[in-house]
Amino acid sequence: MTRAEHVKALLAEYAEQRAQDEREQQQRLEDAVARQPEIGRLRQENADLVLGTMRRMLGEPDLARRKALAEETKARGREINARIRALLAEAGMAGDALELRYRCPVCKDTGYVGEAPARFCECFEMRLRLRQHEDGSMAGVDEQSFERFDANVAPEADGQRDRLVKARNLCQRYADAFPDTEYRNLLLTGEGGLGKTFLLNCIFGRVTGRGFSAVRVTAFRMFEAMRRQHVGNDENYDGFSALIEVPLLLIDDLGTEPMMRNITLEYLFTLLNERIAAKRHTVIATNLTPPQLKERYGERVASRLLDRSICAPVQFKGKDLRSL
Ligand SMILES: [Zn+2]
Repeated sequence: MTRAEHVKALLAEYAEQRAQDEREQQQRLEDAVARQPEIGRLRQENADLVLGTMRRMLGEPDLARRKALAEETKARGREINARIRALLAEAGMAGDALELRYRCPVCKDTGYVGEAPARFCECFEMRLRLRQHEDGSMAGVDEQSFERFDANVAPEADGQRDRLVKARNLCQRYADAFPDTEYRNLLLTGEGGLGKTFLLNCIFGRVTGRGFSAVRVTAFRMFEAMRRQHVGNDENYDGFSALIEVPLLLIDDLGTEPMMRNITLEYLFTLLNERIAAKRHTVIATNLTPPQLKERYGERVASRLLDRSICAPVQFKGKDLRSL
């Protein structure tokens, strides 16, 4: 299946989920009324009240009286709701039992977030990736395992193959020993196309395959999580704290994320610092050299990235394997 076909099928699933949310809400309402018949009467009263007020307001030319009418209706509405909640509590039901409950409160099970142009919610992206993994149409990540790692793709010249084998062995030991690793963090450095992302994915696959929880992000997605956290207009969003808390975090392509004032440096420092303080494991791949890391992120962040007491550096050098 193509990505577009997966998106279409998944959107249909989300529509079914919303219908399901509504059926469950209706079921809870019926249960509540069966246990507390007064709830049915109160809901009817509320509906009549709202409709009656609308009619009366339409026929009322005086603005002050219209306002008073609206206030009166609101106050009575609050009384009714409080009474309904009390009846629900008496029946042992939750206070929000009569409201719609969503599997994902962020997108309310629509799969979309934000104003036009809306984008897919994270829950949707995650399910999409799962679907693509399941039918094998997601090339890359799944196939990049230590079993499939072949150092012979690297030329022997200048010791490139030997270095790649060493890097592979180090990463594999790390993934097999996790969380009791020799060094808590790995920093894979070197130019593009030398196998860093491949080994990062191998570590991710091995560690999650052993049943541990890990998150693998590109630096760009990490930055997105920082930005959303910083803007703070979505109280349900906890993507950034998830990055702080996951036992193993793998960041690919550090250095390609946007450098935005008050966000990139501050949040990256917080992320690294919190993870170090909590003794959590972090693996980072970057095309930047240590001096370039210092220049881009400053001493404070760089000292955490390059701290040799907790971090093993793995250097990649040689010819771009993609061009061979
Ligand atoms: Zn969602």
